[in-house]
Amino acid sequence: MQIIYIGNPILREVSKPVEKFDEELGAFVEELTKTMYEEDGVGLAAPQVAVSKRLFVFDDGSGPRVIINPEIIEKGTEEVTMEEGCLSIPGIYANITRPSWVKMRFQDVKGEVNEEVFEGYAGRIVQHEYDHLEGVLFVDYLSPAKKALLRPKLNNIIKGKLAR
Ligand SMILES: [Zn+2]
Repeated sequence: MQIIYIGNPILREVSKPVEKFDEELGAFVEELTKTMYEEDGVGLAAPQVAVSKRLFVFDDGSGPRVIINPEIIEKGTEEVTMEEGCLSIPGIYANITRPSWVKMRFQDVKGEVNEEVFEGYAGRIVQHEYDHLEGVLFVDYLSPAKKALLRPKLNNIIKGKLAR
């Protein structure tokens, strides 16, 4: 699977719900997970491989997870700042502030509905990946000054990698 970069319009789409929980979905999740590990990522959302579907995989260090059709049903009022990067925005890292935890309702690969609180590193990853399903990238949260500073680097990625 090939990862697409910022500048590709697919990354800006609101992804569509997963409706079929079949073998094809299982195979896709497996491939997506493999790609995440190959690229040394801690999370990978379907839109990042040009598939506009509401699902992502992640591994906060405790093994691979798959999250399908997630909804954020509650979030912490306390916020934390952590450095983020993204496989679709290679070479760019920035401090981003987000709620310290979120409670998500989601489906697993069989279609079973679960609810779970994600905090710490996992909480950070799932919020970043959830954003991908909404067409949001972490650089969208940066101040205009910080964005202006990163603009040349971002433009290089956009110009050089748009074809991917
Ligand atoms: Zn990302």
